[in-house]
Amino acid sequence: MKANRRNFLKATSVITLGVAANISKAEKVFGVEGVTSAFELPPLGYNYDALEPFIDAQTMQIHHDKHHLAYVTKLNEAIEKEPSLKGKSLEELIKNINAIPENVRGAIRNHGGGHWNHSMFWQLLKKDTKPGEKTLVAINGSFGSMENFKKEFEKSAMGVFGSGWAWVILVDGKLIICNTPNQDNPLMDIAVKKGKPIACIDVWEHAYYLKYQNKRADYVQGFWNVLNWDKVETLINS
Ligand code: MN
Repeated sequence: MKANRRNFLKATSVITLGVAANISKAEKVFGVEGVTSAFELPPLGYNYDALEPFIDAQTMQIHHDKHHLAYVTKLNEAIEKEPSLKGKSLEELIKNINAIPENVRGAIRNHGGGHWNHSMFWQLLKKDTKPGEKTLVAINGSFGSMENFKKEFEKSAMGVFGSGWAWVILVDGKLIICNTPNQDNPLMDIAVKKGKPIACIDVWEHAYYLKYQNKRADYVQGFWNVLNWDKVETLINS
């Protein structure tokens, strides 16, 4: 086990050093025997500066390479402590927080949630995309207009006290906006509002403080320039 753990740490540090696009190298490293069952830091899928000037390169690098990696590492540590959880998918873990043994429940909730949320968030960021046909129908049907949708989402993001996330979720064919504290998400059995996540924004200070300092509203406004509407459309359709 110790050797596996070392390999895993070595593997994740390679990812950290590498450029996000260097996927083939990462796959080779994770092919090492005994490492494949551990959760892995997914590559960002684009360069750190791809979202400039709305989200700066340094924030993206630290957010992905340090914060997200820490969630993955601590999630794996929790699973090593509780072998009954080995082999379960990330979704299985976070959808059944109440069923997780108490000794690691908090760790799985925080770090499993952190891993899932950030993996989702990276995919939802891309410049210069436009809302698709089905997205517009869903937004107009659920909120009356794009303007109302944006207003409600911004209000929810601003309403998170401390650290957390704002979400757009699909519930019985309707879009709903909600937020969660810390690294909770709407897939969790413990969530106040449950549904299928369609979009989200990370409003932890680590997501914006370097560029925006205390001005969360400016970060949330800037988010509309980097929301990946193509991904939103795919999620609404799937
Ligand atoms: Mn974050």
